[in-house]
This record gives sequence, structure tokens and C-alpha cells, in this order.
Amino acid sequence: MTQRQFGKVTVETVQGDITRQPDLDAIVNAANAELRVGGGVAGAIHRAAGPELEKECIPLGPIKPGQAVISGGHHLPNAHVIHCLGPVYGHDKPEAGLLASCYREALLLADRNDITSIGFPAISTGIFGYPIEEAAQVTLKAVVDVVPGLDNVRTVRFVLFSESDKAVFDRALMAPVANL
Ligand code: ADP
Repeated sequence: MTQRQFGKVTVETVQGDITRQPDLDAIVNAANAELRVGGGVAGAIHRAAGPELEKECIPLGPIKPGQAVISGGHHLPNAHVIHCLGPVYGHDKPEAGLLASCYREALLLADRNDITSIGFPAISTGIFGYPIEEAAQVTLKAVVDVVPGLDNVRTVRFVLFSESDKAVFDRALMAPVANL
């Protein structure tokens, strides 16, 4: 695990599976607009949570790129799931603004719900095609910009599925703040 402190908030990276983070209050889903099961990380989250998650989510949708909504965690070890719709790279514009909005909206929603620890996957970097290096820069800048305004969130964990994605996020996390 790599960690960096930003005021009262610890930002950290781990390689692993977002559905197996039992010490976090909330995990974030890289959702589709309709908040249905889907593939990639969304499929894994819905499988681990059970069919009640989709039942709860469908009435909350559809959502637009950059938006976030919250649900219960059902059979997940986490009390909450925050569902974000990332931009499709090359299609939803401006990509960086919409990706940053996902992280900002998710963190503000978590904070309003008294969540102290939250885990994110690398939103938009799978099926939606966002290059990992670019996504890591935008993501870390969005998080560092929003953390000073948070009252409850104390841990932000990036759960990267591959070692190589973790290495990219580590470089962005350890870059001097002005370069983020
Ligand atoms: P998007 O449609 O937003 O691109 P994907 O689910 O296709 O969403 O991928 C987002 C990222 O999540 C990718 O980097 C992918 O490798 C990663 N991922 C897939 N499954 C998991 C998992 N179980 N835990 C953490 N990350 C995952």
C-alpha cells in the first residue's frame, strides 16, 4: 500500500479487488447510466452485492456522465455503494471535467452521508477507454482539490485491479501537489 496525507485525509493506493475491502464504509461503482448490472467492475460489484442492489438502483437512474448516486451495500462488506457514470473517452466531452466531476460528486455525497472511508476503482479506464496515465492525473487532482472541504471522509483508497495500474496511480499520487 502507498499512502500520502493531505491535511486530515489519507489518500492511498492498493492492488486488489474493490469487492474485497471490508474495512471501508463505501465503495464506488463505475456504473452504466441505467445503474444495471453490466460488465467490468460494475458486474463484479453487483455479483457480490446480490440482486437486491440492482432492484434498489434502477429507480435512482438514469444518471448522466459526471453524476453520482448512493445505495446500500446489501451483501457487500461495505454499508454503501456510490455509483458514478464516467465519461466514454472520445465521446463524452470534456472528458477530464466529467471524470473529475465523478470523484468530486462521489466524495461530497460520501461526506454528506457520514462516510469516513471510501474506495474507488479507476473510473472510465476499462470499457470506457480512458488512458490510465491521463486518468490518474485527472483523478488525483480532483481528489486533492476536494479533500480540504470534507468534514467526515478521512480515508480515500484507490483499488487498482492490476499492478501496472497501481504503479501509474502511485506516480500520480507521489507527484508534487503543484503538478497534480
Ligand atoms: P468503465 O466502463 O468506467 O471503463 P470498467 O469496469 O470497464 O469501467 O473498468 C474500470 C476499471 O476497473 C478498469 O481499470 C478495470 O481494470 C477495473 N476493474 C475491473 N474489475 C475490478 C475489480 N473487481 N476491482 C477493482 N477494479 C476493477
